[in-house]
Amino acid sequence: MTEEILVNVTPQETRVAVLAAGQVQELLIERAASRGLVGNLYMGKVARVLPGMQSAFVEIGLERAAFLHVADIWGHRKAGTNGSGEAGGDEAGKPIEKILAEGQPVLVQVLKDPIGTKGARLSTQLSLAGRLLVYLPQDPHIGISQRIEDEAGRAALRERLKELVPADEKGGFILRTLAEGASEDELRADIEYLRKLWRDVSERALGAQPPRLVYQDLSLAERVLRDMVTADTSAVHIDSRENHQKLDAFAAAYTPSLRARLEHYTGERPLFDLYNVEAEIEKALARRVDLKSGGTLVIDQTEAMTTIDVNTGGFVGHRNFDDTVFKTNLEAAQAIARQLRLRNLGGIIVVDFIDMDSMDHRAAVLEEFRRALARDRTRMTVSGFTALGLVEMTRKRTRESLAHVLCEPCAACGGRGEVKTARTVCYEVLREVLREARAFNAREFRVLASQPVCDLFQEEESGALAMLSDFIGKPISIQVETSYAQEQYDIVLM
Ligand SMILES: [Zn+2]
Repeated sequence: MTEEILVNVTPQETRVAVLAAGQVQELLIERAASRGLVGNLYMGKVARVLPGMQSAFVEIGLERAAFLHVADIWGHRKAGTNGSGEAGGDEAGKPIEKILAEGQPVLVQVLKDPIGTKGARLSTQLSLAGRLLVYLPQDPHIGISQRIEDEAGRAALRERLKELVPADEKGGFILRTLAEGASEDELRADIEYLRKLWRDVSERALGAQPPRLVYQDLSLAERVLRDMVTADTSAVHIDSRENHQKLDAFAAAYTPSLRARLEHYTGERPLFDLYNVEAEIEKALARRVDLKSGGTLVIDQTEAMTTIDVNTGGFVGHRNFDDTVFKTNLEAAQAIARQLRLRNLGGIIVVDFIDMDSMDHRAAVLEEFRRALARDRTRMTVSGFTALGLVEMTRKRTRESLAHVLCEPCAACGGRGEVKTARTVCYEVLREVLREARAFNAREFRVLASQPVCDLFQEEESGALAMLSDFIGKPISIQVETSYAQEQYDIVLM
């Protein structure tokens, strides 16, 4: 299936949408204010060595010194690579005070962003990501992404790569997922790019007065070119002249075959409006998704998991009930696969399809679901129907979900998704007035509340208010606070 990629750039954020079959399939958003430091390389300076903790603080030019643990000097290669145990070279096993001294310059990479009062976490085991490969300049070893599952294919790929790595190479490579279908020329180009990048970075590092940034990971727009453009991509539309030029230069240096597909969008209408992406973003934040057949999906994201409930639309006659359910589930299978990708939902996901009696129908829905999920770049596992008729699956958490990037818990309801009814709030107010009347000797009580709550007090619940006032022997007045949410109120003692 051919894809188009839209890149919308403003000084504040970059947004990327992947379109296939006329529909948005994937959304990525990077904000300038929250662009992380992970992957950046710094020439740092050791500020303090802590032998007791086998760690060191390293100045890298941030507000707080960054943290380096001895294990991240020795190196322990990432999962998915068959470790040869030689990582870390001469330093492996030595205590940190024998490796680092105060004031010493050291080339480090950020593993984790600083959070709150915690400084960034560093490693001296460096890696640079290319399109097909990750380069490990200090670790002579060839690994393969776990996503490439076929054992024979893994072995063959490893052999191919070994042939391509120049004899003088002291580092190693990990094959990324995209490498699976890559040609020798593409692999060779990636090896060359990464070796050149490393030479540039090393040179910059040598001349650098620490602390100093010597390499910054690519921007979202550049990563799109590196990681997402495939043979199926027909065009990449970019709505900023400056960024179109930058990406063109990046492509020229790196993937020249791609240049012809880069297009500077100069149209009058905003790019994301033209392709209906803005509306899709709104929809991707909604709890409910309407299906063409009249059915719906209800998607709930909780801390522990995401649940997706499939419903038929309205009344369905008895005669073709099974058929309607089957069709709705088939449509839902496709829609769910798309929503998972679009919303970037990760972790445990439980799907409650509408109950089907026919085993054939169940099998067909499951097959359709698996087929639709196969388009996803992210690693997944899918169970069959469980005893309760649910389909359980996991999807690897990569970036944050779309909702987490764009939203925060609702202040009015505290993230519950529901607010107390005006009547519930009324009764809460009545109890609170009584409590305060017992505790404090006021002349009068004034209730500040939202419009709907005040409306109830002035109409249906005016009797209750009068009775309470009579009971406590004090006047109670009502005042609308238009800025208050429905659950919000205050009781003022006059
Ligand atoms: Zn709410």
